[in-house]
Amino acid sequence: MLPLRLFSKPGQKSFALAASIAALGSLSPATAQEPSAELAAEMGAGFRVVESDHWRIVSDASPRSIAETAAVLERAHDQFYREWRPLGAAALRGKLTCVQFATAEGLAGYREKLGIASAPDGRGFYSLESRRIVLCDEDREPAEMVRVTARRPGATRKHSRTAHEAAHQLAFASGIQREGRPYPAWFAEGMAGNYEPATVTGAFGLSASARPDRLRALAVLRANDDLVPLAEFVALPHGAEIAGGAQVLYPQAAALFRFLFSERRKEFADYLAELDKLRLATAKPDHFHRAFTAAFGAIEDLEPEWQAYLDSLQAESANPRSKRRRGLF
Ligand SMILES: [Zn+2]
Repeated sequence: MLPLRLFSKPGQKSFALAASIAALGSLSPATAQEPSAELAAEMGAGFRVVESDHWRIVSDASPRSIAETAAVLERAHDQFYREWRPLGAAALRGKLTCVQFATAEGLAGYREKLGIASAPDGRGFYSLESRRIVLCDEDREPAEMVRVTARRPGATRKHSRTAHEAAHQLAFASGIQREGRPYPAWFAEGMAGNYEPATVTGAFGLSASARPDRLRALAVLRANDDLVPLAEFVALPHGAEIAGGAQVLYPQAAALFRFLFSERRKEFADYLAELDKLRLATAKPDHFHRAFTAAFGAIEDLEPEWQAYLDSLQAESANPRSKRRRGLF
């Protein structure tokens, strides 16, 4: 069950969810609670606040869309903690905020207000400064993402984005990532890239199978020799330009993250400690490289195992019903 509470402005009628998703939870009547009222007031006319167990969602989207978002966010929370509590993820100290727009225009206006030039993850982003995730229902994808997502229907992309941004937000809110620390691109996007369900109820996370379209993209990149050499890849700062752009970064980061998380768990915990020693103001790509090798050992020693892992992902992609390789979960 997913208890949702609605917060409406005075005089506004509470609304009912579409029957098809009523099973997600029951709604209680609107009641006033200061932070939610402030949030609704900040966003202005047409916005309402819906509370799930761990989020306040302020949105001008349809009730059905908000309820779907709430369901995906709560599933992302549960899946994230299942996988990260053993690595030290601390419980949330309050509800997280999600701003969900019905239109891309709404999101773009809000992004400008936050002073963010562009959204790196297509139609959604996590803003570290405001600690909010920002999503949008509109389905058009920016040109640079089309090659990555072309085979995915709109609803698939929407739920993927929701959980992906939630993973970024949860990583910081739980202390797995910390403000004021720098992170390499493979770590930040590789983590979030493993939290991307195709549907409201679809499996996702590091303990579910890898995304089939990502596996196909990975196989093509590998066949064309377009993957970034590991030594270079692990040193790329988050947000840096990368040859091949998002089409290379996302599939390779998700695969590398999955590989190390599933096959090198103990070293992965060491790596988190190494990253925690770095500081945003002074970090250089060299430092990322050193943090990586301090935890996982020399890249050239890791390379054969990484290549074998890519082979196994490729085999899984070619025959998704084949028995999955041990440790590939
Ligand atoms: Zn991301």
